[in-house]
Amino acid sequence: MSDISSASNMSSLAADLTIVREFLDRTNIPAELRVTERDALISQIKELLQTRRAKLVAHYYTDSLLQDLAEETDGFVGDSLEMARFGRDCEGEVLIVAGVKFMGESAKILSPEKTVLMPTIEATCSLDIACPIDRFSEFCNEHPDRTVVVYANTSAAVKARSDWVVTSSIALDVVDHLQANGEKILWAPDKHLGSYIQKTTGADMLLWDAACVVHEEFKSRGLTDMQQIYPNAAILAHPESPAAILDVADIVGSTTQIIKAAKNISNQEIIVATDKGIFHKLQQVAPDKKFIIAPTAGNDATCRSCAHCPWMAMNSLQGVVNSLLNFTNEIKVDDSLACRAMVPLQRMLDFANSNKLKVQGKA
Ligand code: SF4
Repeated sequence: MSDISSASNMSSLAADLTIVREFLDRTNIPAELRVTERDALISQIKELLQTRRAKLVAHYYTDSLLQDLAEETDGFVGDSLEMARFGRDCEGEVLIVAGVKFMGESAKILSPEKTVLMPTIEATCSLDIACPIDRFSEFCNEHPDRTVVVYANTSAAVKARSDWVVTSSIALDVVDHLQANGEKILWAPDKHLGSYIQKTTGADMLLWDAACVVHEEFKSRGLTDMQQIYPNAAILAHPESPAAILDVADIVGSTTQIIKAAKNISNQEIIVATDKGIFHKLQQVAPDKKFIIAPTAGNDATCRSCAHCPWMAMNSLQGVVNSLLNFTNEIKVDDSLACRAMVPLQRMLDFANSNKLKVQGKA
């Protein structure tokens, strides 16, 4: 069974899209910096990281300057769970998380004793917005016979209501395991990732109806046109993309899996269907290859997006400075909520350890 939520949830999706648009209207993309301003901010951050005993942890989709700075200062660049795990295991007393809010929350849940700051507290995610805890709880209560599996891109409250939290790279293994135990699944929030898992595993899954604003825009018609221009190009796609994109992709995988594939695949030209922030790392691991962003406009497109998350783009050097200087934008998660959210998170980490799997995945 693959069913996109109930009729009542479908009608409320329109409201979710309105909320997402309102959030998008509030996004504040940092202005371009002059070289001297940029260099001064970078020096200031390096000094602050030392004096505050802090580590900078950045997502692959953030500005390349932040990614480079994180690596230069013994911080970390990666996906959301690896960011949180690095935060838990590193020696710093303060974590400055460049990403979106649920990433800060995950870092805090795994490192309750550390101070977790963010360059901006306004950066969120369309998947998180479209899965509010009150409606999600009702939905779970309507289906008590189903095991609740949620994607990492959710609030701490939604994680706390779940049985399992998964990232994109471990989701197939977890669902396979649950299916083998005869369990029926309630999946949230990304419908495209949920459909892909359902189709691949054949599991009985009931899907919440939400999507990533970036991946939703990749268009299969445009991709077909692009293949005519680059007939020898491989297509790598993140499973948050619509099924029509995944159907023609050579490799479907998480950000980390895409980076690995880009390095190992023999094709010299590679079309990539995920946020273009990842191109910085792709070009580092395979400098001789040509990476092309998958088209976000086809005949059926309503707009031409930039293939870049507007909330990830809100993370700036100035934001890092402000936060480290004044300890603003601190992430706090209520203790009892964090304890409950930790249970499904830990279940995933234990599953990964016992099956020798990595939990790397996307936002
Ligand atoms: S790229 Fe999509 S899934 Fe990732 S944070 Fe942005 S809106 Fe959320």
